Amino acid sequence: MAATSTAAATPISTALANGFLTQGKTCCAALSLVLSGKVSYPDSTVYNQSLLSYWSVQEETVDPTCVVSVSSSKDVALAVFILNLGGKVFPGECDFAVRSGGHTPFAGAANIQQGITLDLSALNQVTPSADLSTVTIGPGNRWEHVYLQLDALGIAIAGGRVAIVGVGGLTLGGGVSFFSPRYGFVCDSIVRFEVVLPSGLIVNATESSYPDLWLALKGGSNNFGIVTAFEATAFEQGELWGGLILNEISTKDAQFAAFEALTGSLDYDPYAALINSYIFTAATNSWITASNLEYTKAEAYPAFFDNFTSLPQIYNTLRISNLTDFTIELAADDPSGRRQLFATGTYGNSAQMMSDIFDIANSTAQALLNVANLAYSLSFQPEPTIITSKAATLGGNSLGLGESDGNLFNLLLTVSWDTQADDALINTQAKSLFAQAETAAKQLGVYNEYLYLNYAASWQDPISGYGSVVKARLQAVSKKYDPTGIFQTQVPGGFKLFD
Ligand SMILES: Cc1cc2nc3c(=O)[nH]c(=O)nc-3n(C[C@H](O)[C@H](O)[C@H](O)COP(=O)(O)OP(=O)(O)OC[C@H]3O[C@@H](n4cnc5c(N)ncnc54)[C@H](O)[C@@H]3O)c2cc1C
Repeated sequence: MAATSTAAATPISTALANGFLTQGKTCCAALSLVLSGKVSYPDSTVYNQSLLSYWSVQEETVDPTCVVSVSSSKDVALAVFILNLGGKVFPGECDFAVRSGGHTPFAGAANIQQGITLDLSALNQVTPSADLSTVTIGPGNRWEHVYLQLDALGIAIAGGRVAIVGVGGLTLGGGVSFFSPRYGFVCDSIVRFEVVLPSGLIVNATESSYPDLWLALKGGSNNFGIVTAFEATAFEQGELWGGLILNEISTKDAQFAAFEALTGSLDYDPYAALINSYIFTAATNSWITASNLEYTKAEAYPAFFDNFTSLPQIYNTLRISNLTDFTIELAADDPSGRRQLFATGTYGNSAQMMSDIFDIANSTAQALLNVANLAYSLSFQPEPTIITSKAATLGGNSLGLGESDGNLFNLLLTVSWDTQADDALINTQAKSLFAQAETAAKQLGVYNEYLYLNYAASWQDPISGYGSVVKARLQAVSKKYDPTGIFQTQVPGGFKLFD
């Protein structure tokens, strides 16, 4: 290692001579000196709790050398300063990961084997401004914690739809909200990011201060620094109507038609949010459908959802309640502690395309019938221009979507299972599904290169999906604020900007 000769008479040289610097231990020790009591090691309670709080087993079983439980932006700044310096003196010894809620399914996105994981969970402030026009939230929050406090004040911000999910990753990857038809993607509402830059400097990125960084962070994920606070525009919000409907699979063609009509509506109702899912049961080799309808007003059975609510139902939970309650309902379907895969695609609004995807999924799922404890679902979500055009009125974002893309829909494939031995088969079948869907989409003329970063599998490339212009802009912002590429190489997890 290049640094050994420079450390001849120090404790570090002894460590090096003993081969101690093979697992980031020296960097952990240096961090312990400045962040006393905040660095934990394997088998300690804090370390174990941090790992157990990841959503997927793949992330939970990555073993960092130490976990740094930061509790202020100053802590983050000190940590980044030391990691930056350490990485220069001892290349490869101070690699690190950044985690907020830990909900990315694949290994190493927000955790690191034999490196340092910065756990932002304690950065969970929720601070409304005096006039309630904005709310500043820490990245370590789960959305339930945010909404509980905002419900009590009669306000909301555009945020995640599932109680347990983290604020940091969701917001930096774009973010889809019940409020998206009213306010755009979650990142579109962020008026200020407090960011620790690779140098350790803490800055506020807004439309007028560090505007290139502000724009880059709206979709650019963990490529520019560590966000320690998000200030979001707030709005008055009372109770909502919504819930879950289950239907027999025999209704699927009617649902595809209803979805296409809704997504393509010339008069899209901005209060309406829909997740239209198809759930496969391996034991019976059969499907049912599950739709989450939400209407962000206390108005039951709005006409905009008639084509869904008029179909024969097996079950429904439709009701008027508060935002927190709806996000808790959605969390019930997504327990942690399982092996997980997310993968995604984006297509022009088309019932035929939905039907093709269903048929492809049904065929690729046949190879999974013997996977133990398989849960497998397709979720379709409208991405009409009423959502994708909002950014242009709010200073822009970095997702590469806009009015000219037309009305789109997002496909999320979710697979859960128990045994590592099944990983390869599940990934192979998922890749096959998306490859076949791409061919079908191109034939139908509805292919779109956008891939929602927060739903992307490790083998997908959402940054390229933003388009070459946005990608080049993000690369230029990275070179400006991170000239030595710390967040490209020393933070290897997540989706990176350079090929
Ligand atoms: C059950 C479930 C429900 C979901 N529901 C929704 C939904 O309603 N809407 C939606 O849009 N998405 C949803 N998602 C997807 C979700 O947006 C992603 O899983 C997202 O990564 C979660 O954020 P996190 O903070 O929990 O993730 P993490 O895994 O902690 O972080 C994700 C990535 O962001 C980086 N990162 C995190 N915080 C910071 C920070 N402060 N600074 C710099 N980089 C950071 C990490 O390094 C990592 O690469 C859901 C996911 C799950 C599992």
